[in-house]
Amino acid sequence: MLSQKALLLGASRRPELRRLVTGTPATCRVVDRFVAGETLDDALAVVRRLTGEGIAVTLDHLGEGVTDRAEAVRSRDAYLALLDGLAPLDLGPAAEVSVKLSAFGQALPGGGTDLALELVRPVAEAASAIGTTVTLDMEESHTIDSTLTVLAALRRDHPGTGAVLQAALHRTLDDAAALAVPGSRVRLVKGAYDEPPSVAYQGRHEVDAAYARCLGVLVRGPGYPMVGTHDPRLLAVAQRLATLVGRTPDSWEVQLLYGIRTAEQRRLAAAGCTVRAYVPYGVDWYGYFMRRLAERPANLRFFLRSLATT
Ligand code: FAD
Repeated sequence: MLSQKALLLGASRRPELRRLVTGTPATCRVVDRFVAGETLDDALAVVRRLTGEGIAVTLDHLGEGVTDRAEAVRSRDAYLALLDGLAPLDLGPAAEVSVKLSAFGQALPGGGTDLALELVRPVAEAASAIGTTVTLDMEESHTIDSTLTVLAALRRDHPGTGAVLQAALHRTLDDAAALAVPGSRVRLVKGAYDEPPSVAYQGRHEVDAAYARCLGVLVRGPGYPMVGTHDPRLLAVAQRLATLVGRTPDSWEVQLLYGIRTAEQRRLAAAGCTVRAYVPYGVDWYGYFMRRLAERPANLRFFLRSLATT
């Protein structure tokens, strides 16, 4: 039988189910917890608030799995508008952007990787022009080689382009070693997608142990590790390791999702850590929202209770 998590992750890939959860006040309340708003102005207001509190941001214009070139071009244009909006704030690297290549046409047949590279390149150029960077989010395991190909091409002109590695995958320790090179920005996460046992660890403890191993490679290496987790034990491991190898706060950072463990985000920033919040915005929140429900049974219970009391 499929687990609740697998069911929710399956539903996250079926946009036609979106109408089942859309449009109720309860949905709006719960979505608002995880998403900064639907418009660029909403996102910029959150950027001003968080950076004012000493928390850096990486902005995600929501969207994924586009099925035609026109939609992919619209994703590019949305990011260019976002970077235009960030320019006058003059935040430099304190406000960067995260992109999902599936929103840039990566999955389109016959040359999706090339199309994604063609469309993401101007975004990397616009980011460099205002002194900031792009990080390529990582999606399902079958997209990793394509994403790493785009990463390598972008890094030739924009060496600050960031990568994401998912500790749950068997291949990740090798990928971490390959990416632990000078200047290499790598966000390490546990992994948000439902992956089969042939490619991924299935148990929570196995994933946590794999995360700690990859963390060791990245923190001891010469790159710039970005520790993407809310897990207090792994955050403590990262802090201990960073201290042990003599990393200064400007040589690594902690990243958490907007709306999750916000008190901890402020506490870490006040304690001198570099903290960055991942801030999603836009109308296409369905897939992102369903993954957040899947991560934590309490989120689903809260959502269902809200629906019942609407
Ligand atoms: P968990 O063990 O899941 O959670 C630890 C604790 O954190 C929980 O006990 C709870 O207190 C809190 N928590 C975790 N998730 C939630 C939630 N949804 N709601 C409320 N509380 C929660 N995954 C990818 O596959 N690709 C990416 O590109 C990617 N980018 C990410 C960027 C950032 C900055 C972060 C923080 C995560 C990203 N993820 C990405 C998601 C990641 O893979 C995990 O699915 C997610 O972070 C939950 O795992 P965890 O490390 O927080 O640990």
